[in-house]
Amino acid sequence: MTTEDTRLKGLVGSAASKLEKHRGIVTVGDLLDFAPRRYRTTVADLGAPAVGDYLVAVATVESATTRTMKSRRGKMLEAVITDGRSRMDVTFFSAYGHEKELQVGRTLLFAGRVGEYRGRRQLAHPAYSSIEALHALGDLAVDEGGLIPIYRHVPGVQSWGVSAAVRVVLQHLDEVVDAVPDEVRERRDLLGRLEALTALHAPHTLDDVERARHRLRFEEAFVLQCLLGMRRAERAAEVTRARRPDGQLLATFDERLPFELTAGQREVGEAVLADLAADTPMHRLLQGEVGSGKTVVALRAMLAAVDSGGQAALLAPTEVLAVQHERTIRGMLGDLAEAGMLGGAEDATRVQLLTGSMSTQARREALIHIATGAAGIVVGTHALLEDVVTFDDLALVVVDEQHRFGVEQRDALRAKGEHPPHLLVMTATPIPRTVAMTVFGDMATSTLRELPRGRQAVTTHVVPADNTRWVQRVWERIAEEVAAGRQAFVVCPRIGGDDDVEEGVDLLSEGSVGDDEADGERVPDDDAPRPLADVSGTLELLAQVPALAGVSTAALHGRMRPEEKDAVMSAYAAGEIDVLVATTVIEVGVDVPNASTMVVLDADRFGISQLHQLRGRIGRGGHPGVCLLVTGSDAESAQERLQALASTSDGFELARVDLAQRREGDVLGTAQSGVRSQLRHLSLLRDEDLIEAAREDVEVVLAADPDLSAHPELAAAVARWADEERAAYLEKS
Ligand code: ADP
Ligand code: MG
Repeated sequence: MTTEDTRLKGLVGSAASKLEKHRGIVTVGDLLDFAPRRYRTTVADLGAPAVGDYLVAVATVESATTRTMKSRRGKMLEAVITDGRSRMDVTFFSAYGHEKELQVGRTLLFAGRVGEYRGRRQLAHPAYSSIEALHALGDLAVDEGGLIPIYRHVPGVQSWGVSAAVRVVLQHLDEVVDAVPDEVRERRDLLGRLEALTALHAPHTLDDVERARHRLRFEEAFVLQCLLGMRRAERAAEVTRARRPDGQLLATFDERLPFELTAGQREVGEAVLADLAADTPMHRLLQGEVGSGKTVVALRAMLAAVDSGGQAALLAPTEVLAVQHERTIRGMLGDLAEAGMLGGAEDATRVQLLTGSMSTQARREALIHIATGAAGIVVGTHALLEDVVTFDDLALVVVDEQHRFGVEQRDALRAKGEHPPHLLVMTATPIPRTVAMTVFGDMATSTLRELPRGRQAVTTHVVPADNTRWVQRVWERIAEEVAAGRQAFVVCPRIGGDDDVEEGVDLLSEGSVGDDEADGERVPDDDAPRPLADVSGTLELLAQVPALAGVSTAALHGRMRPEEKDAVMSAYAAGEIDVLVATTVIEVGVDVPNASTMVVLDADRFGISQLHQLRGRIGRGGHPGVCLLVTGSDAESAQERLQALASTSDGFELARVDLAQRREGDVLGTAQSGVRSQLRHLSLLRDEDLIEAAREDVEVVLAADPDLSAHPELAAAVARWADEERAAYLEKS
């Protein structure tokens, strides 16, 4: 009996080990999931392909001559093949073994990259196979103008070798479990799973392929929506303690707020208070541009939690950010954060920081304050997740920059509550609707759309690195801002010095397209390697720029000790440093309102959302910001990316460009790897309608069968997905 769980070994011969080694394909199901990337018709016009193209064609050997080479030992074979209209040269530098096969008049299937020799196109050492051999493998309609699936290259296996393996598998498959319920399949007029896999791997027409793809995409959307739907239901059934504020902390804070909340902040604030007052735990995602004022919203929620007698914890992705949050919160609370201290206000609470780098003594005290409930607000990094950390009564968990944490991590923190704590997740990465519907589909979503008054526009320009005049102007611009009393950031992709590493660079995966070479993808021409700007080199460079004489500079990067980083950040925040030369450690959260200028060196090394985040560090005070993206790359995709940033500051628009340009998984970031590793057919960008349709259908199915007891196949698929998601998170942490 062959099912999708059957191992390939023993079923498809020698290809099995190569498929496993190079593509991680172990089971029948894995192989069937290995979708062809494109299809070729065999009735190829040999005249059409250009040099560099990958050709797959049925052709007849018109002539074949073997000759002894002058420069080398051995014989070479030169043949000409034809499709009846056009011709192509075929060369083997060692005739051995090929003479027998390439006999005049024989029709064979050829595959290879078109090269050039003395101005003529040629195939050097193409792969070829006899039509009879292919027929023996199944019903591959190669000589009837059928479609040949082209797979991603597997070293040592020809594309038709993969095809052959798939056909063997399809013939032996007794049982294919279909996760999509019959009634849904009928209503949506979808192919069955086996039909779809057959059409995908052995189609007769491109229409077959489309129907197959549609069905497989729908299946993914459906299973994913089902998982999310069940999670939503699970959460709706969760019971916690309703948190109704009876203290005055929030009210006092609101009274003292030096600015008016924006309409969005008020609205989200009310939704959050209502969530907290319910006995079902809140699961809310708060998205908003950098600087849209999420922190105030989160702080107000935390104060409400304290007012209800509980504690709130804020989980930050980095130490720098945790320290900064703690400082900001303390600053905003003033004497409201000084419970038990001289001068502390009535109703006051205590804000406690917990990070990995605290001294033993400080840490012990922190743990006590957290455990006794003396600390109403706890701010920390991953250190908060450790077992030794216990809370008196954790009512609310706030997670900042969600994309850096996995579900496991936020759940680890939530598990510390006696009653399941409410959860508020904040993200500054704009999330396209489809991603919100999938990756965050189990959460309620709020968005802060307007920026608070006082936020200034940031103008962005792209500066070509090879234009010395412009680069000169960049440094002069910094000097002018500093002269006007402002501060600047210079961001580099590398740290430099003895510790040279690329830090936090959101590398685009363009280069890795190379491993698809053999199926005709074009490999982007990589620019000649140029040294990337680094922090230490840039500091030296700035010291030599005449315009910057007298300007004080300092470095900030991830290899510095936490105390060092802290000291530099404090000095910069206090205005004692004019120009901070840093890596992306400043990407999130850093709030220095006096910083008005940002220069990003080798900006092409960073992704769109990362640059957008970076530039959110300026224009935070009353001064308009200017962001200068310096690049030495003229690769089209880099230019497109940087120009997009220069032309808009709408995070949602940028997220769209980003999604369109990059491999989808990359956009979702680390924490969403669980979803990413499982999307094989579905595109979050393209398949919005389909995701929506799947969601509607899922609602109907779950309403009638909430635990899927009547849909065991679907239940199994959902469980498998959840398992893989968990595994992916574990790998990351
Ligand atoms: P985010 O966390 O969304 O990036 P912050 O909460 O850090 O944004 O807010 C950015 C800046 O705007 C902070 O200095 C904050 O004090 C200020 N701010 C927040 N809300 C308002 C408001 N309603 N009016 C004026 N300034 C505000
Ligand atoms: Mg913030």
